[in-house]
Amino acid sequence: MEWNFDNTYLKLPKIFFTEIHPDSLVNPKFVLFNNEVAKKLNIENNIQSKNDILKIFFNNKKSKYIKPFSQAYAGHQFGYFTILGDGRAHIIGEVISKNNERFDIQLKGSGKTPYSRNGDGKATLGTMIREFIISESMNILDIPTTNSLGVIITGEEVLREKIEKGAILIRIAKSHIRIGTFQYANMYEDKNYIKELTNYTIDRHYPELINKKNKVEIFLEKVMTKQINLIINWLRVGFIHGVMNTDNMSIAGETIDYGPCAFMDEYNPNTVFSSIDRNGRYAYKNQSKIVLWNLSRFAESILLLLDRDEKIAIKKAQKILNKFQTIYSQGWLKMMKNKLGLIEENKNDIKLIQELLDIMHVYKLDYTNTFVDLNNNEINKHKQFKTWIEKYDERKEMEKKDKLYLKNIMKKNNPKIIPRNHIVANCIKEAEENNYNYLSEFLESFKKTYDEVDFPESLKKLPSNEEKVFQTFCGT
Ligand code: AMP
Ligand code: MG
Repeated sequence: MEWNFDNTYLKLPKIFFTEIHPDSLVNPKFVLFNNEVAKKLNIENNIQSKNDILKIFFNNKKSKYIKPFSQAYAGHQFGYFTILGDGRAHIIGEVISKNNERFDIQLKGSGKTPYSRNGDGKATLGTMIREFIISESMNILDIPTTNSLGVIITGEEVLREKIEKGAILIRIAKSHIRIGTFQYANMYEDKNYIKELTNYTIDRHYPELINKKNKVEIFLEKVMTKQINLIINWLRVGFIHGVMNTDNMSIAGETIDYGPCAFMDEYNPNTVFSSIDRNGRYAYKNQSKIVLWNLSRFAESILLLLDRDEKIAIKKAQKILNKFQTIYSQGWLKMMKNKLGLIEENKNDIKLIQELLDIMHVYKLDYTNTFVDLNNNEINKHKQFKTWIEKYDERKEMEKKDKLYLKNIMKKNNPKIIPRNHIVANCIKEAEENNYNYLSEFLESFKKTYDEVDFPESLKKLPSNEEKVFQTFCGT
């Protein structure tokens, strides 16, 4: 296999990582392999290259050319600061893709590390399948995300509430640098650490800033813009991340760390799925506020690089963070208008959108399907929208672009199907019984979610009462 691993992260000060090998495995086996991701990384989808991967990653004590490591980081978990780190993950190295982009290859569930605390360093097949399905779905939905190259079963048993199959996910990410990595660097007296991490991150993700005089300010603003873009996309498709702790927010702006995340069926802004989110901190409607909260923690961590004078530094940070609300509101409005096929400006648009959402909320209508009905001019089948449709039709008259153009915009912004919780649960259940057909068929269909395809009723309809999944679990 022609793979050149690079290890730029290991040039950072030693506090940022521990060099450590993943556990060796006697008989690891691929159960899922992502062709598209493999292609991007120049990996062929054949037995030979899969065997090479297994050999290099899990029988690697003898390998000269990889230097695996686990990252150190900290983070606010549900508002409380904790020192964390990769407790069950190893980065094998960085690879350069066909398009000359640099990606981390990380194993998740690959054994204990110095950061494992009380954990066993392992992951279950069910949770890794969940990350595989949802990260691939985000990719298909055109939302920045880490990717999954594959899922491997380890042959080990993992004890959770019951005995489960052990598995490892091979994760591909622009990097694994998190807001929590900056919080970790900032804990130290030695201010060189935060400086080195910031320079490294700018070099890696924002190279256009390297020679700018006020590069740290622009860096903060760029990270903010990326996070806003991400969250607006989540809201567009009804995605609820579930654990937006600062250690789960990637500086590269990708959706990362799929735990108890889920897509909303009936529209309700208060929706929470995660069993551990008891106060709804990470509910659908709170996600944008939490991004701002997390970005404030990020700004605090790089404060001394904004200015030597703390007061001036705080002012600079505030000035940037104060732009959040405007950028977010404008972005949200544009996104919602795209969903409705509206482009021109009109002062009543927010009201029109809010009314639509309110009707969906009150009458417990499905978020995805209501927008599909709008796309298909079938919204009038819901009597509740009668007066709203009159206003919408009138508003559409103000558009200058032709109908086809507007329809296309709607198409690109309204998925026809989503990975509904009960579908994901079914994929996992079948996979745990060694049947991957249901999962593959679902993902194959899902690839066409933005197309004019008539999907089977089973993928469109809401779950029945028996099928409904009310809670999702971290499963760590
Ligand atoms: P997460 O909720 O997946 O973002 O994980 C939060 C922290 O717990 C991270 O530091 C993880 O590495 C760690 N962690 C999660 N599961 C395990 C496990 N089974 N063993 C060791 N550490 C874990
Ligand atoms: Mg995490």
